[in-house]
This record gives sequence, structure tokens and C-alpha cells, in this order.
Amino acid sequence: MRLRFAPSPTGSLHVGGARTALFNWLLARRAGGSFLLRIEDTDRDRSRPEHTEAILSGLRWLGLDWDEEPVFQGGGIERHRRDALRLLESGRAYRDFTTQADFARARKAAVESGTGSVARLARNLAARIPADEERRRAEAGEPFAIRFRVPGGETVWDDLVHGSTRFANDQIDDFVILRGDGSPTYNLAVVSDDAAMAITHVLRGDDHLSNTPKQILLYRALGIDPPAFGHLPMILGPDGKRLSKRHGAQAVGEWAAEGILPAAMINFLALLGWSPGTGEELLARDELIRLFSLKRVLRKGSVFDREKLHWMNGQYIARMADDELAGALRARLREERTRRGAVEPGDDEAPAHEASEDATLGEEGFRRMAAALAPRSRTLAEMARQARPYLGPVRSYDPKAVRKAWMRDPEATAATLLATAEALAESEWEAEALEKALRSLAAGRGIGAGKLFQPLRVALTGVAASPGIFDVLLILGRNRSLGRVRRAVRHIRRAAADLPSR
Ligand code: GLU
Repeated sequence: MRLRFAPSPTGSLHVGGARTALFNWLLARRAGGSFLLRIEDTDRDRSRPEHTEAILSGLRWLGLDWDEEPVFQGGGIERHRRDALRLLESGRAYRDFTTQADFARARKAAVESGTGSVARLARNLAARIPADEERRRAEAGEPFAIRFRVPGGETVWDDLVHGSTRFANDQIDDFVILRGDGSPTYNLAVVSDDAAMAITHVLRGDDHLSNTPKQILLYRALGIDPPAFGHLPMILGPDGKRLSKRHGAQAVGEWAAEGILPAAMINFLALLGWSPGTGEELLARDELIRLFSLKRVLRKGSVFDREKLHWMNGQYIARMADDELAGALRARLREERTRRGAVEPGDDEAPAHEASEDATLGEEGFRRMAAALAPRSRTLAEMARQARPYLGPVRSYDPKAVRKAWMRDPEATAATLLATAEALAESEWEAEALEKALRSLAAGRGIGAGKLFQPLRVALTGVAASPGIFDVLLILGRNRSLGRVRRAVRHIRRAAADLPSR
């Protein structure tokens, strides 16, 4: 099996293209076949090398490795022309000398007389010219396009997704294969290239369905066996319309920036139009390769659900080994620093005390932090955001958390926090001992554990929600924890002094 992904470099890699690439890749890897790339760069106005680069790097990020060097369609133009001329010589195509002005005139006449289909005009204008006149005018140097002569009858193929599919040929106009400027059109270039690359299976979006009969007719006219064709259902936005930028359909690079893991993205994309039939949703790459089959590709469109992508990503994060997770989070933090540095030069300089605090979290603390944040994070970006209180000082306290946890009774809270600091200071720094110390302190003061934990949480992290309080203490370590509690007490007392007296 030789499959290909054939993007036009007119933009980045988006969900639809990524899904097409993935399905081709899965099929190739499952069958032990080849997955090839062809960059369809013949639209000179809209194709850009930076888009090619973005597409390749998107594929690399997803881990969709390709076999052989990518083919650039622009490199095949001589062959495309030869194929067009071959069709001309065999009478399967003809020259069309119609100028824009001719066409406009004929169109006007047709509209005025109310006769004839405007769509057929060009074909009829051109097809009326006898063959010898055609040759004579060409020899005289008159410019022409080449049109394929669509035969009568029906074009039928067994679509790998939709099953038997048929088009009546009289619904297909004689289409241009080589323009007046000598450039090939899409249908000719694709057929010529797929044949040259010995592609056996063409798997692409439903938006190409109406191109397929034209391409099959071209194959036949060229005397080449057509490959098998399969058309993947469209990806829809939540409103049921074809997914577009309007729906926030992002480029693959943006998913990466959002902190989506490639493995989760692959899993998510695989389920856009395919299911293993077992109801299972979390499927690793090698399971996908093992299970994937075109028989289970859906025929109708599937909805792109961002929430589900985030959920799935959270599942992948939660299942990562601690070391791997710590590595991914470190990479993410590094990246964010670089990005901030690039956007706001100078702003990235951490104050000296922060830098040293960061350093003292240490390998073990960092790993513990990553593990504690994992069940609470759906993306690496969320995780990095939540990691902030552990990697630098608490720069500010969340006002709502302060009101609720501290300021209802500031004096009592400050006293409880001081007692907490004392109890912690005497405890061994280990989960069980810390828990015992805090629970017996709460009991001794006749308050519920929650009354102790929540003010402490705000003191340690600045916010109302965090991993379990003992995890937080272990991540931060003894000195930093005690320092933060004392600082919180000072803050509460200052704030209470500023409060208007009742
Ligand atoms: N270049 C075409 C596109 O980006 C794909 C052509 C094909 O797969 O046959 O839609």
C-alpha cells in the first residue's frame, strides 16, 4: 500500500488536514505500507514556503513520520504538460481558444435568449471547432487551453468509505486540464503525480468527492489503472456546519501552544470520523495502528468538540509517569519563559530571591509538584499556571480567598496560623507526621480541620484551590512553608489594622 498526504501550502496544518494525514498514516503503518508526502504548491499566488514548513513541523509534532523525500508538485510540471499533450494527441482532449471576450459575448447571448446552460458554454464554443482548424490555429500561434473531453456514460467506483459511488458523466463539464499559460489544473496534476508516485490508495476529505470521477476518467484516458479512493466525512463545528476558523479551528501549532500533548491530539483526531467499535476512547498510538480500519470510518460528519479534546488531554496527563510529566512541565515552563522573553524583553528577569527559591524546589519537589497537579490539569498550560505558587514567591493573595479564609475573623486566623507554624515546625516533614500534627492541633483548638487547612492553603499558595494540603507542604518544604505562613500572618495583621473599626 502506498498512501500519501497532499496538502496545499496555502496555510498551516489544521484539524481537517491533520485528520486526513493521520488516517493515511494509520493505514500505511497498519499495512506495513508507505506514507508519502506531496506538497501541492502549484498555486503560485497562495503557496508559501513558510506554510510548507508549518505543515511539516505540525506533522513532526504529531509524530506522523513520512517515508521517502516529500514530493513538490511544482517539480512535475513538465510531466503534467506531457500528459495533457498525450491526451490531446489521442483525441481525449481538445484545444480551447475561447478568449474571455468570446466567453462573455456568448454568455450574454445565452442569457438574453434564455437558452442553454451557461456552464456548458465554454465547452460548446470550443468543441464546435473541427480538428483541422484547431491544429491550424495552434500552429499559427494562437493561445489555447486544453480541455478534457468527458465521455458519455457513468463513472462508478467502490469508495473505501461510502461503498459503490456513481456519477453520471453528463453532469461533468469538459474541464480544463492545462491552462492557456501552460500551467496544469489540480485534477490533471493530482492524477499525473499519484500515478508517478505509484499511489495505491487515495484517502482524502469528502470535499474532493466531486473531483474523483474526473480523476478516474483521466486515469482511464491515460491508460493507467486508477488507485482505490476513500472519502473521509467532513469535520463539523458545534453548529453542524463545516468546521472553519469561525469555530476557532486552530492550527496544530496552536494546540501545541495550548499545552495539548501530541499523543492526546492523535487519539482525539483518530476518533473524528472513526471508532474502534468497542466504546473505548483512550487509545494509544500503537493500539490505533492495530485497530484502525476503513470499515469503521463513519459516513457522516463528526463534530469537533474542544471540551472533549481538553478532557482527553487531561486523561493523558493523569496517566503519565511522574518523570515524564516533570520533563514535559519543565519543557513547557522553559518555552513559556522564552516566549515571554521574546515578547516582553527584560520582563523575564526573575528577582534574585525568586530564582533561588525556584532552584531550591529541587528535583524531588518538582516531581512531586507535577504529580500533584496532574489530576487537576487538562493541559500543560493549565499545569504551568497552577505551578506558579510553587516555583516563585506568592506575589499576591487572591482577594476572594483572603476574604473568605482569613478576614472573617483576622485575629483568630492569625493566631491559628501562628499555632500552625509552631506545630509544623516541630513535626517531622513527612505526610503522616504532618497530618497528625495538624489534626491534633485542630482538635486541641476545638475547630474542624478545614478551618485550619483553608487559611493555611491560602498562606502557602495565595489561592483557594490547590492539591491536598500535605502535598503542598511536602512540595514547598519546611523552610519555605514556615516562611510563607509567617508572612501571611503579617499580611493579615496589616490588613486588619487597615480595616475600618466596627
Ligand atoms: N491538495 C489538495 C488539498 O489540500 C488535496 C488533494 C488530494 O488529496 O487529492 O485539498
